[in-house]
Amino acid sequence: RAKAQGKACYEIFDPSMHTKAVTLLQLESDLRRATERQDLMIHYQPIVSLSSGEIAGFEALLRWHHPERGWVKPGELIPVAEDTGLILPIGYWVLREACRQLKIWQEQFATEPPLTVSVNLSGKQFKEANLLGQIQHIITETQINPKTLKLEITESVIVENAEAAAKTLSELRAMGVQIYIDDFGTGYSSLGYLHRFPLDALKIDRSFIINMCNETESAEIVQTIINLAQNLQIYIVAEGVETQQQWEQLRKIDSTGGYGQGYYFSHPLSGAEVEQLLAEEVQW
Ligand code: C2E
Ligand code: MG
Ligand code: MG
Ligand code: MG
Repeated sequence: RAKAQGKACYEIFDPSMHTKAVTLLQLESDLRRATERQDLMIHYQPIVSLSSGEIAGFEALLRWHHPERGWVKPGELIPVAEDTGLILPIGYWVLREACRQLKIWQEQFATEPPLTVSVNLSGKQFKEANLLGQIQHIITETQINPKTLKLEITESVIVENAEAAAKTLSELRAMGVQIYIDDFGTGYSSLGYLHRFPLDALKIDRSFIINMCNETESAEIVQTIINLAQNLQIYIVAEGVETQQQWEQLRKIDSTGGYGQGYYFSHPLSGAEVEQLLAEEVQW
């Protein structure tokens, strides 16, 4: 509260900050209404096996269609949801909806191995006391095999409180769900701690993939992360694969049996578009 008041005083002297605060407040009340009016939806981006070139699963990405502003990007939406605590109900909605959808697709398209869904967890969700109970509840309710659910958390969230994070991750692992580290390489990157956490994959941040074919430094970082994952006996997922050259290079150097994700394969899609893609049995 004191902090909020401090901000309010400052606004008087800075009109641009005032505008920003008003926009944020407006966004917050709109977001509250959106959750009530069901204006939120999920788009799904394919994740492709580097070895087979087939779709292995999807990442669930939150989308908000605002009545006046049109599409609001997660980059703008998630921080507001975090600050207001709305991330908890929204986050569980995404998780439940993604699992419900996955179950339907698994039954409709019986691939081997079965399709998976990846869901992002924010720091606030990860620290929430009810996390394990809620996830267990959603798994039971939607009847998905927990092995086909992948939870994505960023490095900074687990490093922040390593002790507690290790415990939560072990409990999630015991439930059978997979743990993916999102945006890997951009955080604290104290590599020594990684073996202490039960992990299933490192998602190599887009910023390294973008330049891996024209910058030795990025190429080396990608190779280093692949070696690291191989030592830990976990997978890699390359984020932001946009060109054929990146795809081919990744297929050559990956030794983890990993995956790629990015516009080269597909933008995030609506549920109906996903069904079309799966029916076509696309392969890269
Ligand atoms: P993320 O988890 O790293 O998701 C990948 C982001 O990269 C997505 O952005 C996706 O659309 C974008 N992307 C994928 N392929 C490419 C590519 O080839 N090139 C480029 N330039 N971008 C690509 P999006 O959907 O805007 O989401 C941004 C971030 O918002 C996500 O990053 C994630 O951290 C967060 N987010 C999205 N949905 C949720 C959610 O349901 N819960 C939480 N807690 N966070 C979410
Ligand atoms: Mg993610
Ligand atoms: Mg990511
Ligand atoms: Mg990212």
